[in-house]
Formats: sequence, structure tokens, C-alpha cells
Amino acid sequence: MIRPPMNAEIIAVGSEMLTPQRVDTNSLWLTDQLNQLGVEVVAKMIVGDDRERLATLFSAALARAEIVILSGGLGPTEDDVTRDAVALALGRTTEFRQELLDAIAERFQRMNRPMAEINRRQAFLIQGFEALANPRGTAPGQWSQLDNGKIVVLLPGPPHELKGMYFDHCQQRIRSILPPQHIATLQFRVAGIGESDLDQLIAPVYTRYSNPVTTVLAKPGDVEIHLRARCPSQEEAHALLAAVGPQIEALLGPRIYSRNGDDLETTVGKLLLQRKATLSVAESCTGGLLAGRITSVPGSSAYFNGGFLTYTNAMKQALLGVDPALIAGHTEVSEAVAIAMAEGARTRTGSTYAVSVTGYAGPDGGTEANPVGTVFIGLSSKEKSKARRYQLFGDRSRVRALAVTTALNKLRQLLG
Ligand code: ATP
Repeated sequence: MIRPPMNAEIIAVGSEMLTPQRVDTNSLWLTDQLNQLGVEVVAKMIVGDDRERLATLFSAALARAEIVILSGGLGPTEDDVTRDAVALALGRTTEFRQELLDAIAERFQRMNRPMAEINRRQAFLIQGFEALANPRGTAPGQWSQLDNGKIVVLLPGPPHELKGMYFDHCQQRIRSILPPQHIATLQFRVAGIGESDLDQLIAPVYTRYSNPVTTVLAKPGDVEIHLRARCPSQEEAHALLAAVGPQIEALLGPRIYSRNGDDLETTVGKLLLQRKATLSVAESCTGGLLAGRITSVPGSSAYFNGGFLTYTNAMKQALLGVDPALIAGHTEVSEAVAIAMAEGARTRTGSTYAVSVTGYAGPDGGTEANPVGTVFIGLSSKEKSKARRYQLFGDRSRVRALAVTTALNKLRQLLG
């Protein structure tokens, strides 16, 4: 019998997290860590530096979840309200602890800086809570397992402090209160299919199973499918994955480019290395983004010779030797020009393969026959050169990102 997973809620505290400039990355990171332990995050909240509002939200979270983790608001200033809000919600006081102030003072001394009087505020511990040392900052964390068994954790806001404190003090403790369980995971990465088409294809399978849990994560042109099984034994967890994974795999077929977490550019790089082949690129509308993705892989110099960034027709002619008559006859966004760009890039670098991209990324430009979003991707090898037209949708940055992913995927298919 598999117990339902333990539930957690995360509250990110900080008015800056409610502005358009700041993203609450702490909750994403904590969610990943908790999921790895087999804890499901059932709600996340962001709240400004307001003691009463935070106390109300915290009370509600604590009524629902077995673990509540708060991040931020442990600083020394008036607007750092987390300690007081949690104390208020629990009907407890906060107590001054000399040893906490000593640790904070020692840190200031090590940094050769005077400690302000307001840092005293950070030496207050909620009644019944345990302090978690913070060697990376001044604010100690706080931990308590309440009488009803629920866990409350207060962590500092700065991400490197929060992560360090989680690993130093929380991960092992949370693991120790979980029922015996094993987590087995499986992932597929897929290109060449949109998120909704993919979901339509595989949802009839994965929605029949609550264990493993299936999560679909999409980027333009690139989708990750994660399966996570949670069982009392490793064997059972693997058996559950073995029941579902192959069904999904069969539906996705050759669209799957990786089963080990490798991204598309890494997969392409490995295929080139296996074939002892080299690559060059010729880019127009993607302006170097394709070469950027390829060279983001460490060691890519073993197979990537270089690229041509030919934005104007003059550069296509000068650097790649594209015949002006071809451009005049077909326009620069055409199958013929994409082929000529790829051939030029391959022959001028002596590479085994070349990929080209030419298109209208928008928002202006395009023709009636080839509106904004039209992209031609060319592939050239010694045996053959070809190009295909794609109609991509979205704003300029999405069209460019999709064009790069599509180009990498076409190359993968050619190699694979
Ligand atoms: P400090 O002692 O540094 O004041 P604190 O616990 O009070 O620590 P905050 O003041 O809330 O933390 O946040 C400090 C900084 O940490 C913020 O300016 C922000 O850059 C970062 N931060 C806070 N919360 C988050 C979050 N949820 N996700 C990402 N970054 C965060």
C-alpha cells in the first residue's frame, strides 16, 4: 500500500518579489528538492513584507500542508516580518538569544565591519523553534516540528544562503520524517512537436496513472516529459516506471532525442563525435543564435568549425558564394538560397555537414507567399543538400528560438 505523498507549501516573502523585475526562484529550487525527496508541493505563494497578511497566509498553509517552508524576510530591518508573522500565527512569542547575536557579531568582526544595533532583531527565535546556523549570511534560519507533527521552516531569502541552509540542516531532517520510500525517475526529451499536440498524444496514457506522476515541461519546440514513481521499495518504483514509460516511448517514437537529460545541442554534438564528423553553420535571421547554442556545449570545438553570420544579401554572396541570380530569382528567404547557404558553409570550411537558416523573424517583412514566421532550414552533406520550409508562429524572439531548435533537430535526424 503506497501512502499518499507528504504535502508541502512554500511561501516566498518579500515585496520585491511582487514587482515585474524579480522572480521567485527560491520556490522553484525548493520544489525540485522536495520532489526529489518524494514530497509534493501543493501550493506556492508570494507575499509582500506585511506581518498580518503573512500570518494569515501562513495559518492557511499550515492548516493544509504537512510541511510549510518560508523564504526571506529574516533580515534586520523593519520590513523583515517573517519571524514575527509566524510567531503571531502560532500564538507564540519570540525570544532573544544571546548566542545567536554572538554568532552574528562574530561574522561582522570577521568581515571587519561594525554591527548595527538593528541586527539584534535577527537574534530573536520563535518560542519552541530551533535556530539553523547561517555561515553564508547573518540571518539564522528557524526550524520546528510542531506538536501535531507538522514541520515549519524559515529560510533566508538570498538564494545561496537558502540553498546552503537547506543542504546543511533541512534535507536530511525532512528525509528522516518521510515514510520509507524510493523514488525512481525517467525522462524523455522531445523535439519537433508542440506541447499541446504532445499532450494530446500521451495524456490518454499518463492520466491513467497517479504513480508515477508525469510532468510535461515545454520550451519553444522542445518538450521534456518527466515520470516520477514513489514506492516503498526500489524494485516497485522501477516496476511502475516500466509499466508506463514504454507506452509513452512508443507513442513518441523517433521524436525522442534524449533519455538521459542531454539537451538538443549536446545530443547533436555527441552524434557528430560518434561519426567523427564536423559542422559549420550559415545564419541569417537567427543572427548567431544557432552557433551560440552549439558552442554552449563544453568541448564543441571537437566538431564545430565555425559559422557565417550573413544578414544581408551582400554578405551571403561575399562569405558564402550565394549566386546573386538565385537571390534575384527566388528571394533570400527561399529553399534555393537556404541550400546555397548550407553548401557554401560546408565547402568553404571543409566540414562534413552544414546547416543554414534564412527566414522572416518579424514583426515586419515577409511576403504574401512567405509571411512573417517563414523560415527555410538547409542541410548540406557531401552526398546531398536540401532545404525545407517551416511556418513558425510567435513573436520575433520565439520565431528565432524555434528556428534554432528546428535546425538542431533536423541535423539530429540527419545524423541519427
Ligand atoms: P537578508 O538578511 O539578506 O535581508 P532575508 O532573509 O531578509 O535576508 P530578503 O531581504 O527577503 O532576505 O531577500 C534578500 C535578497 O534575496 C533579495 O533582494 C533577493 O535578491 C533575494 N531573494 C529573496 N527572496 C527570493 C526568492 N524567493 N527568490 C529569489 N531570490 C530571492
